[in-house]
Amino acid sequence: MKEIISDFLDLVKVRNGHEPEFLQAVEEVAETVIPYIVKHDIYYGKNVLLRMVEPERLVSFRVSWVDDSGEIQVNRGYRIQMNSAIGPYKGGLRFHPTVNASILKFLAFEQVFKNSLTTLPMGGGKGGSDFDPKGKSDNEIMRFCHAFMSELFRHIGPNTDIPAGDIGVGQREIGFLFGMYRKLKNEFTGVLTGKGLTWGGSLIRPEATGYGTVYFAENMLRTQDDNFEGKTVVISGSGNVAQYAAEKSLQLGAKVVTLSDSSGYIYDSEGIDLEKLKFVMQLKNEKRGRISEYIKEYPNSKFVKGETPWGVVCDIALPCATQNELNGDDATKLLSNGCICVSEGANMPSTKDAIKKFHDAKILFAPGKASNAGGVATSGLEMTQNSLRYKWTREEVDQKLKEIMEEIHQSCIEYGKDDDGYIDYVKGANIAGFVKVADAMLAQGIV
Ligand code: NDP
Repeated sequence: MKEIISDFLDLVKVRNGHEPEFLQAVEEVAETVIPYIVKHDIYYGKNVLLRMVEPERLVSFRVSWVDDSGEIQVNRGYRIQMNSAIGPYKGGLRFHPTVNASILKFLAFEQVFKNSLTTLPMGGGKGGSDFDPKGKSDNEIMRFCHAFMSELFRHIGPNTDIPAGDIGVGQREIGFLFGMYRKLKNEFTGVLTGKGLTWGGSLIRPEATGYGTVYFAENMLRTQDDNFEGKTVVISGSGNVAQYAAEKSLQLGAKVVTLSDSSGYIYDSEGIDLEKLKFVMQLKNEKRGRISEYIKEYPNSKFVKGETPWGVVCDIALPCATQNELNGDDATKLLSNGCICVSEGANMPSTKDAIKKFHDAKILFAPGKASNAGGVATSGLEMTQNSLRYKWTREEVDQKLKEIMEEIHQSCIEYGKDDDGYIDYVKGANIAGFVKVADAMLAQGIV
């Protein structure tokens, strides 16, 4: 089996050798899915996985725009349309200086499996730009978003490809992007999700990824007759996903002690309660400040510069910032401090080493493609409401989100339970996600 997997990975490396994040994501899937393929004749010998690692389409384009000082700036834009066998391409847009084809291909590849897991008919895609929104004025953000959409609009559409937000793309950016799409196409359609509530957005969409990550962790804890009540939770990031993961953890009776951004983390031993979280939301979403400013407001807390929060004692860890933010050493620290559950809010935040350590210690570990799927699932619900020209209540959307997270958890158990009863959520999510897409691809022939 090892040889089959390594032959496959060698083949993928020939074409994508310069894309480490993409190779990392493919390797994780190959190690769990290839043994399944080999045991099942309907998939064996059809090169389904080999077809799945090649994007159906990869668009790269120039984005020229003028900054506030009148200087012409040039960025690179991308849209990766990875797989549309089970529905139109769906996945976020990331604006961050580190964005490149490797990062977007890893995200688009993961998205295919994640979207399949949601039970909704959505294919996988991802896009973005190496544009850095930090320190830009609202007008600069608007000019950039308009310039970006002036090319992207010809590649997307409500039945073709429906982008959403990701790192650096929140409701403000979705608004500017939507405005330009509407103007160029002269139509009002649900072509983007994460829209404002008065122009087609869904209730609970902003909360969905963070809430879903916690709902998934709740489902995992339930398998051990446990829950969030009284647990200490360590969270990384302080953006959209982190904020709502913190809110839901607090609502379920846990104590949240950390949040972070790319400059370091804050530790509040008294707990970041709902009022303090409100301060963080204002700081990050309205003032666009840094997390270090928290300690000025709450002097009993501390800011640890340049570090991640994984050395802090906790029961539950929710990595909600970015890829590869939790490595093997971090995993060792979490385990020796007694952590029993890790639910990924970010995409691929744990390295391969870290995942191995969690599995060896047999703690509850959920990969992002399962545990953070609530965001795209609720985007799917936004698309449904747009098509119906209808709006569900907050309670209705939240209930559907909970049910979807439960179903994803169930699929992971179905495909991921080991002989000794341990649930390997990585294996479960990869195989469950694969089966639905592979079946559709086989049914549709070689296209
Ligand atoms: P935001 O832009 O709202 O927040 C990102 C947070 O992560 C910020 O606190 C940011 O800090 C921090 N961060 C970003 N890059 C780094 C880095 N290189 N090192 C350390 N910290 C970093 O993004 P989201 O909350 O939307 O996304 C967070 C993660 O969740 C991403 O992995 C994303 O792909 C994933 N995700 C998001 C979904 C969504 O619905 N938004 C859906 C599913 C997954 P700083 O401000 O300093 O950059």
